[in-house]
Amino acid sequence: MQSDGESMKVNKNCVGCGQCAAFCIVDAIDIKGKAIITCTCTDCRKCIPYCPVKALEA
Ligand code: SF4
Ligand code: SF4
Repeated sequence: MQSDGESMKVNKNCVGCGQCAAFCIVDAIDIKGKAIITCTCTDCRKCIPYCPVKALEA
């Protein structure tokens, strides 16, 4: 499923640690101070459990 990049969200808990980016299989997360979900995201939601501060929301 292709996303418009607006389904996955990063909330204010994000500390920009980059852990989620390392786990995204399509490299859809940019880290610029905090995580930014790019249009490459397929909404697979696999990154969600890897965020230590629960900053990723579907
Ligand atoms: S939902 Fe899937 S494709 Fe999107 S950022 Fe997370 S791991 Fe990557
Ligand atoms: S793992 Fe969580 S805190 Fe770290 S960059 Fe990703 S969304 Fe932000």
